[in-house]
Amino acid sequence: MFKALVITKDEQGYQAQLSQLETADLPQGDVQIAVRASTLNYKDALAITGKSPVVRQFPMVPGIDLVGEVVATESDRFQVGDQVLLNGFGVGETHWGGLAEQASLNSDWLIALPSAFNAQQAMAIGTAGYTAMLSVLALEKHGITPSHGPVLVTGANGGVGSYAVRILSKLGFDVVASTGRPQESEYLKQLGASDVMDRAELSEAGKPLQKERWAGVVDCVGSHTLANACASVKYGGAVTACGLAQGMDFPASVAPFILRGVTLYGIDSVMRPLADREQAWQRLAELLNAEDLDQIGATIGLEDALEYANKLLDGSVRGRVIVSM
Ligand code: NAP
Repeated sequence: MFKALVITKDEQGYQAQLSQLETADLPQGDVQIAVRASTLNYKDALAITGKSPVVRQFPMVPGIDLVGEVVATESDRFQVGDQVLLNGFGVGETHWGGLAEQASLNSDWLIALPSAFNAQQAMAIGTAGYTAMLSVLALEKHGITPSHGPVLVTGANGGVGSYAVRILSKLGFDVVASTGRPQESEYLKQLGASDVMDRAELSEAGKPLQKERWAGVVDCVGSHTLANACASVKYGGAVTACGLAQGMDFPASVAPFILRGVTLYGIDSVMRPLADREQAWQRLAELLNAEDLDQIGATIGLEDALEYANKLLDGSVRGRVIVSM
């Protein structure tokens, strides 16, 4: 028997509860894993609460991230005893995920856990930190360097935002953090933000072209914030869009793209090829140390995941939530 968070949807409604399952209940996969740690992402919170249709089949074990040890394998890619890492690939949406003590997965979704991190540390990073890294890699590939000027991070107190601030600051960028929680300014400055701005400045409809302020932007919130970010990027700069915390809409004009040559990069972490994942995790291992991870992550047990899912959607969680098994 093992413990798992299970989401069901039937005549009694949409429910998530801690349950005891048998190994035989697990879905098909060529690798069996003893899960050591998982995490709560925004998407997991939406799945657990049912506030958005993240879960596509029931019953479902949520959890888009996990680290665990291989306990049985039919794949050549991994051996029993290997420590492996999973981010995304529809796990926790269409295939049972990481918020359980055991998982059965497709080996093609897994990468080896980087030796720089233990299970908890990798989950302190999770999809949020990996997505922040993919966003920063996109700005780097665009050619943006610290000498080009400040970089804006929106949703800065969230998981992706916190890591984007930390990573950009470690790379020497002047980082401006936009947040709705000015009371957390000290935390953002400790992460390396040189300045903190009130997200209200970005969250309403603005002019199609605004003062050129940013060399680049890592946007986690979408909607008017993303539109205003694009409108205030310097000539030739770039914006990455990964999130929709303010909204899925994009009420913008083409002006920044056709008059300032601004580039908008879409960042998807879920179906990203393995080579990109390995590159992002290698850069994370080079850039982040144990102190960074302690600063951003707080640990809970599987039994606390329901409560924390609600807190995460209320916007009252700062940084990342690690779920230790
Ligand atoms: P999170 O920890 O919940 O952070 C979201 C942050 O967005 C909040 O902390 C808050 O930051 C800000 N926010 C919330 N409501 C807002 C509103 N109405 N207007 C403006 N800002 C608002 O979530 P996360 O894990 O960092 O994820 C951030 C976003 O990226 C989510 O939309 C998530 O679905 C998406 N995401 C996408 C991918 C991908 O592959 N594309 C991967 C990971 C995450 P402040 O308190 O600082 O204002």
